[in-house]
Amino acid sequence: GSQVVDRKVDSVCPFCGVGCLITYNVRDEKIVGVDGRDGPANHSRLCVKGRFGYDYVHNDQRLTKPLIRKPGIPKEIGEHSGHWSEVFREATWEEALELAAGGLKRLRDTHGKKSLAGFGSAKGSNEEAYLFQKLVRTGFGSNNVDHCTRLCHASSVAALLEGVGSGAVSNQVNDVENAELIFVIGSNPTSNHPVAATWMKNAAKAGKKIVVADPRGTELGRQAWRVLQFKPDTDVAMLNALIHVVIEEGLADEKFVSERASNFEALRENVKGYSPEAMAPICGIPAQTLREVARAFATSKGSMILWGMGVSQHVHGTDNARCLIALSTVSGQIGKPGSGLHPLRGQNNVQGASDAGLIPMMFPNYQRVDNAQAHQWFEKFWNTPLDDRPGLTVVEIMHKALADDSDPLKIRGMYVMGENPAMSDPDLNHARHALASLEHLVVQDIFMTETAWLADVVLPASAWPEKTGTVSNTDRMVQLGRKAIEPPGEARQDLWIIQDIARRIGLDWTYPGEESGVAAVYEEMRQAMHAAISGITWERLERDSSVTYPCLSEDDPGQPIVFQESFPTPTGRVKLVPADIIPANERPDAEYPFVLITGRQLEHWHTGSMTRRATVLDAIEPMATASMNGADMQRLGVQPGDVITVASRRGEVAIHLRRDDGTPTGAVFIPFAYYEAAANLMTNPVLDPFGKIPEFKYCAVRVTPG
Ligand code: SF4
Repeated sequence: GSQVVDRKVDSVCPFCGVGCLITYNVRDEKIVGVDGRDGPANHSRLCVKGRFGYDYVHNDQRLTKPLIRKPGIPKEIGEHSGHWSEVFREATWEEALELAAGGLKRLRDTHGKKSLAGFGSAKGSNEEAYLFQKLVRTGFGSNNVDHCTRLCHASSVAALLEGVGSGAVSNQVNDVENAELIFVIGSNPTSNHPVAATWMKNAAKAGKKIVVADPRGTELGRQAWRVLQFKPDTDVAMLNALIHVVIEEGLADEKFVSERASNFEALRENVKGYSPEAMAPICGIPAQTLREVARAFATSKGSMILWGMGVSQHVHGTDNARCLIALSTVSGQIGKPGSGLHPLRGQNNVQGASDAGLIPMMFPNYQRVDNAQAHQWFEKFWNTPLDDRPGLTVVEIMHKALADDSDPLKIRGMYVMGENPAMSDPDLNHARHALASLEHLVVQDIFMTETAWLADVVLPASAWPEKTGTVSNTDRMVQLGRKAIEPPGEARQDLWIIQDIARRIGLDWTYPGEESGVAAVYEEMRQAMHAAISGITWERLERDSSVTYPCLSEDDPGQPIVFQESFPTPTGRVKLVPADIIPANERPDAEYPFVLITGRQLEHWHTGSMTRRATVLDAIEPMATASMNGADMQRLGVQPGDVITVASRRGEVAIHLRRDDGTPTGAVFIPFAYYEAAANLMTNPVLDPFGKIPEFKYCAVRVTPG
């Protein structure tokens, strides 16, 4: 901008997984603006969140002192509107940390290692994620550590690890430039990955074919060659029909399949029953269109698939992703430029936090905790005995918090860093009861989140511009953010807090150096992750800001496209896994005739704790709205702006109505960012059996005026 600033500090956007590089403009120790920097993912572009969503850090609701729950104040699970001082009192760090760590230690020593769990955050840095999971595994003594990847791409990752041997993307977003056909499914990138969407729109302008497959009509559809607005929940039917056409019309890449895939016969056998003609009435797409799309996909010089939560958040989320892997493999559209598989990561560091081991079944870099070799290696590396059984996942932890006293796996204490499960989990009434029932809950955050209201101790943490650290974006780029300003009041850096708690529960940790030892933590993590980032030293990040992995040595430029030679599976080949139709867990019926689809919108990020406190973003989208199409509104006799009640078997909200004819008939769309109309009060906590991801994209609701 043109304004005078005291300094400019280079960092990374704190919102989505696109990973735009930014520069903070600082004046009088405040951030007064953000510029786009010429990073590999953004080429100086930013969306409205990155550009204008920065002043949440200066919001007067920032937590600036440690807080301790006043004695005798019950944990209320409803909506909170009052001031925190009604429930908490200020404390010194010494008192708060002693209480926080002391409570966790006491539960561990009395009820055993399985009585504790930790949620880290995909909003934190890689170093924070690494240290947090190490604290849970070595200090709490179990693998009960998870984060919001479980709610996001856990099913995609399950399918990818099984099928191609790696959970990360095969090709980067900007590789759409080298594609001829870009297949975008279950994703609304214009809202959710806006700068990634600019690459797609530019590709369309350059004559590439875009296919948008989504039950909701989305803006990218306007640039598309074909729009497949399939019926909600019919992904497998539609995708199997596409695979059917590729195989039955002789368009499969036989050489690729015979040299680089396994289990092809089982897939071929399975999709025989999925002709486009048979699937058209199920998915609502004409057979001819399915054939055209399948032919174009298989025969183009490069076809690339990008997908989002619309694919992953179903009980059949893993099956959906298996179909995408199969479609791309049988067509030979993987392992070369302009092709491949790209699950668009949501949070700025959900890729990195997962890589760093913030998941219950894997150590850093996806080494299974129940693999004897990996287990032995980490016991030696961390010099401590480790549990060799996978821990509980996000939703399982909530269930176990409500388990009987006699249950040996009952969760009694939790440490939650930067996540807000009291807004982000499915079936919130249940999740909030679970959190409220804990004997000891420590929450570390920058605001009084819905989860913090249920805590015993609240520790004031640092916002992203107040610390130095790395994050890994959807493209496998490890990128460095530098501290621009000091945290407010007595708030402290998260790395400092984790280390202090670790020492108080008996761990002998020292990470010397500036910024809470961030470089030392990074270097330890680099060793723990073996080859993946071994060529990405801290010094290199300080010099280059962004390096793509796999990166095997310091002179390796990083590999933007993987699987060109082989797949990192045990056989070196793709494992094709056939999938059959499994219906959504809760179908509409006479009592609950609508389908609730949840998601995000451009201006607000996830549970809204940051963006709803950013002045410009809040001004653009100040209140919760539900979207329905005009025909449904007419049928119900309601108008835009009316208040409606949306209710499922689990909960209900009153919410203003907005007309959006892209919403399919019989469905209502609600973003989950608004505490006053929390969409997740209604969602269904049923899980995909492989990824353990809840079915956020489909549950039955009733819609009534007023
Ligand atoms: Fe930030 Fe994502 Fe927007 Fe880029 S596209 S500015 S990373 S929110």
